[in-house]
Amino acid sequence: MTTQQGRHFLQIPGPSPVPERILRALSMQVIDHRGPEFGALGREVLAGCQTIFKTSGPVVIYPSSGTGAWEAAIVNTLSPGDKVLMVETGHFATLWRKMAGRWGLDVDFLAGDWRHGADPAAIEAKLAEDKPKSIKAVMVVHNETSTGVISRIAEIRKAIDKANHPALLMVDTISSLGSADYRHEEWGVDVTVSCSQKGLMLPPGLGFTAISDKALAASKTNKMPRSYWDWEEMLKPNANGFFPYTPATNLLYGLREAIKILLEEGLDTVFARHQHLAAATRAAVRAWGLEILCLEPAEYSPVLTAILMPQGHDADQFRALVLEKYNMSLGAGLTNLAGKVFRIGHLGECNELTLIGTLGGVEMGLAAAGVPHKAGGVLAAMQALGDLNTAVSQLAAE
Ligand SMILES: *Cc1c(COP(=O)(O)O)cnc(C)c1O
Repeated sequence: MTTQQGRHFLQIPGPSPVPERILRALSMQVIDHRGPEFGALGREVLAGCQTIFKTSGPVVIYPSSGTGAWEAAIVNTLSPGDKVLMVETGHFATLWRKMAGRWGLDVDFLAGDWRHGADPAAIEAKLAEDKPKSIKAVMVVHNETSTGVISRIAEIRKAIDKANHPALLMVDTISSLGSADYRHEEWGVDVTVSCSQKGLMLPPGLGFTAISDKALAASKTNKMPRSYWDWEEMLKPNANGFFPYTPATNLLYGLREAIKILLEEGLDTVFARHQHLAAATRAAVRAWGLEILCLEPAEYSPVLTAILMPQGHDADQFRALVLEKYNMSLGAGLTNLAGKVFRIGHLGECNELTLIGTLGGVEMGLAAAGVPHKAGGVLAAMQALGDLNTAVSQLAAE
C-alpha cells in the first residue's frame, strides 16, 4: 500500500461519510442510561425520529444494523406460514426475501430485472387475485441500493387501496431515509425499516422501525417468537425516553446532531439537493457514453447511481484501481451484478465539490483502467450543476 494524502473519498451508498459535527457529538462521555439526563436525550431523539420519518406514531430505535430492523418488522407483525408479497428489485429485496423464508413466511416473490422499481400495477393485480385476502403483508424496498432504483411508495399504497386489500405495507428505507422524500404516515406505511449509516450520516449501529396503529394491533396477536426485538417491551420504557436494555448512548448523541443538521437545512432542501446532485452524476455518465443501470427515469435514485461497465471490463478491477490511485471507495456490484456495475454514492454530506471530486476520480480512473469512454463527464456534471442553490430552491418549492 502506498500512503495516501488527503481525505479518503467514501463514495459508497452507505456507510456514508460522517460530518464533523456528528463526529464531535459522538465523542462525549457515556452517561447512566437509567438517569434523568438520558431520559431527556431519549425523549428528544424519539421525537426527532417522528419528524424525520414523518409520523405521529412510535419509532423504535434498536442498537442494530438495518438487517436487525427488518427482522423486528417481521417478528412483531407476522406469524409462521403467513403469506407475504415481495418484489425482486435487487440484492437487498432478495436478502429480505431470504430472511422472510427463514422465518417460515410463505413468500410470493414478484420477479424483477434489477433495473426497475416495484411495479404498483403488478402489486395491485396480485392483491386483486387474492380473493380470500390471505396475503398479510406487502414488503418492498424503497431505494434499492444495489441498483440505484427507487420505488414509488405512494403509488404502491394507492394500488393496495384500489385492490381494497388489508395487507400491511412494510418498506425498507435503509438507504433513502434522510436523502429521499419519504412520508410514513401520509403514504399509509405500516412498518418503515431504516438504519443509521446512510442518509442519516451516522456510523453503523442503529436500526429503526416506524410503526402504524395497524402494525401495532397486528403485534398484539401475531405468533412469531421474539424477545430482543419485541415492540411492547421497547415502547413501555420509551414513553419516558428510556430503553429496556442498554442503548447505544453515543450513537444517540450523534442521532440528535444528525436530526438537527437535517432540520437546519430543511428536509425538502435536503431531498432537492440529492436530486440535483444525482442529475449531475447522470449527466456525467451520459457524457462518458456509459449506461445507467436504472431504466426508468421516474425511478432514478437520488442516493446513488449504478453504472454498467462496458463488455469485457471488470468493475471490481476498476474500483480497485480507483482506490489505489485516488483514495476513493466506490460501491461494488452485488451478487447478480458483481463485476458488472460500479455504484457512485452521492448521499448524506455531499455538495458540489464532493461530487465533482468524485466524478473526477471516476473519469481519471476510467482512463487509467483503459475503459472505453468519452472525456468530458466532469464538465457535463459541472454544467448540469449550474447554480446548485438556485436549482435546489426551485426543486424544493415543487
Ligand atoms: C444497506 C442496506 C441494507 C442492509 O443494512 P445493514 O445495516 O447492512 O444491515 C438493507 N437494505 C437496503 C436497501 C440497504 O441499502
